[in-house]
Amino acid sequence: MTNRNRNIGRRHLVAGASACSLVGALAGSRLLHAQTPSVSPTQALTPQKPRIRLQPFDLRADQITDIKVCLRPFRPMGPRFDVEHVGSKLVFHNYGHGGSGWSLSWGSASLVVEKVSTTLQRKVAVIGCGIIGLTTALTAQRAGFDVTIYTKDLLPRTRSVRANGSWTPDSRVSLTAPAGPGFADLWEKMARISWATYRDYLGLPGNPVEFIEHFVLSDRPFNTPHEESPDGRTGDYASTGMPQHGTEFARYSDRIKDIVPAAEELHPSENPFAAPYAKRNTLMLYNFASYGHLLMSEFFQAGGHVVIREFHDPSELTSLPEKIIINCPGYAARDWWNDKSLIPVRGQTAWLPPRPDLPYGLHYQGASAVSKTDGLMVQAYDLNNEGEMGSVGNSFEHPDRSESERAIKVLADLFARSPLSEG
Ligand SMILES: Cc1cc2nc3c(=O)[nH]c(=O)nc-3n(C[C@H](O)[C@H](O)[C@H](O)COP(=O)(O)OP(=O)(O)OC[C@H]3O[C@@H](n4cnc5c(N)ncnc54)[C@H](O)[C@@H]3O)c2cc1C
Repeated sequence: MTNRNRNIGRRHLVAGASACSLVGALAGSRLLHAQTPSVSPTQALTPQKPRIRLQPFDLRADQITDIKVCLRPFRPMGPRFDVEHVGSKLVFHNYGHGGSGWSLSWGSASLVVEKVSTTLQRKVAVIGCGIIGLTTALTAQRAGFDVTIYTKDLLPRTRSVRANGSWTPDSRVSLTAPAGPGFADLWEKMARISWATYRDYLGLPGNPVEFIEHFVLSDRPFNTPHEESPDGRTGDYASTGMPQHGTEFARYSDRIKDIVPAAEELHPSENPFAAPYAKRNTLMLYNFASYGHLLMSEFFQAGGHVVIREFHDPSELTSLPEKIIINCPGYAARDWWNDKSLIPVRGQTAWLPPRPDLPYGLHYQGASAVSKTDGLMVQAYDLNNEGEMGSVGNSFEHPDRSESERAIKVLADLFARSPLSEG
């Protein structure tokens, strides 16, 4: 058992112990009574439960060790999977996964390698070593191909490791109308393959992939429709070439609810946060350092080769010895392949020292904190209440420290008001 697992176990024991003293603790808790919201009719029917006990994160801006910025490679019609000829080469595209590249990587790789397997070639070149290129290379190796990765940067220096890195398979991956119903089926196939493959990486030393307890907190009931801040946008993607409303973004996750653990709404008596509405779920996340290291090691152990090289024009591919090329450059395809269908969606994460003893995460008022083995990650995912439209079209790939400080403050204030471990 790893330290992290031992600590999770210890914390659950504490939660279990508090359950025994449930009713007395609740009755005597001034703080809890002060924070408990009015009980909805459904909640009134469900029996009271013990308050969940958590240690707060130490969220302070002076603890920031790093701020990372990344552009989500968003294509309104979904990722690009078509095949084209460049001279005598056959290029299979695999890029444009929006905010879902980590989650869909294995499924996406599998779709492409299935197509590549119909050729008679056994040698494959993969362009790019982000999470899409690397999982594609590994999937090709597992299918018996001899693989060389050609890339400007290896995984630790790619945009992929500037992401959040949790299971978000339909986060800004397409717009419903341009993607069409066919993409929904493809998405489901990718999501199911990825989910199944990720199970192979659970429970390993260093926790490359793990599940953590996760809380989504709200000041309004969860069934209240999300209202984007009005900003005068009119039209839609079809009329302007850019999405104009969050409702244009596709949502597919209901298609896989048979395999992904459902969230449960907490009874007010259980809710340890000073936010009246709370849901708890178990969230799959990817710890970049250990997972990335493991994938690179697997690639080399299986005889893979890497060539560090930057391409500037598709015609340069004709100099490669491989006839089959899988193109996985992420957002860089906008320049390198002149694919202007890619729309940047900026995102930023701030990193604080790791807290492996506090393996949980939360979302509140557009800020999130997630405890990963490589750091406590804080993201301002929607501080301006723009919903899916936040940062769409924004290609400013430089850190904005004030944004991270605002997110830290939102959560630090919440913790300061919350009766977390008391009671
Ligand atoms: C803030 C943020 C949070 C996110 N959170 C999540 C999340 O929680 N879950 C999730 O599933 N997804 C998330 N995403 C989305 C995810 O990060 C992307 O979809 C994914 O990283 C795309 O990976 P990629 O391999 O296609 O691209 P990249 O990581 O950009 O990799 C591209 C590779 O191609 C190489 N390359 C590029 N151009 C050239 C060239 N001209 N010549 C040679 N090599 C080249 C690069 O060096 C690199 O190796 C998030 C994104 C952001 C910005």
